[in-house]
Amino acid sequence: MSRQITSLLAIAAVAVALTPTPALAQAPKKPEVDCEQVKCIALTFDDGPGKHAGKLLDTLKKYDAKATFFLEGQYVNSRPAYVKRMVQEGHELGNHSYKHPDFTKVDPWVIKSEIQRTQDAVKKAAGVEPKLLRPPYGLADLQVSDIAAEFGMPIILWTAGSNDWNTKNVEAIKKKTLEVAERDGIILMHDWVEQTVQAMPSIVKSLQAKGYTLVTVSDIIKRQELQPGDVFPLPEGWDK
Ligand SMILES: [Zn+2]
Repeated sequence: MSRQITSLLAIAAVAVALTPTPALAQAPKKPEVDCEQVKCIALTFDDGPGKHAGKLLDTLKKYDAKATFFLEGQYVNSRPAYVKRMVQEGHELGNHSYKHPDFTKVDPWVIKSEIQRTQDAVKKAAGVEPKLLRPPYGLADLQVSDIAAEFGMPIILWTAGSNDWNTKNVEAIKKKTLEVAERDGIILMHDWVEQTVQAMPSIVKSLQAKGYTLVTVSDIIKRQELQPGDVFPLPEGWDK
């Protein structure tokens, strides 16, 4: 090999080494949202990823809205591509158990296994681990709180529900969601309810027209300085 060709190859090797590795699986850097400055609201979707998650993600992307998905491990394993997409598109992921048992009615080892299996499933699907726990049915007691603390996660409930699982009606879901919407609210919805996904373009447009910025739960709770095991918002009668 001539000296000239060798040095050309050396230059090519340097050029390759200098080319940044494409970070395909990583979330784009999220612009900081300050909920003291802007009117924030967090839409949260439980029990997914549901069958209609793709359409929901399309809507959120179109309107540049962020959401939080409290995922069930069993569906993370059956629909991992949606989970990966959620992370890539800047949404937040939370843990909602593996198979949705009532955490206040099962043994501690079951709770731990339900949480761990879901953490593992999300990690496998999207390379990240949820930092928030929402127990099935929003039911928690001191034992659940202690276990959440072991996992380093606060327990996130909601300020209001859309009642979508009950009405399964596009107009009713839209009406209820806009009725209960408030600044720094955390709204419970479900991406397995087809009508919720159908209502979303209209809901997002209406919220944005009212001045809301749709953010993740972590954006909303930033100022709360929650500790692992803390419950937010604190339900009535919760003695902590
Ligand atoms: Zn649920």
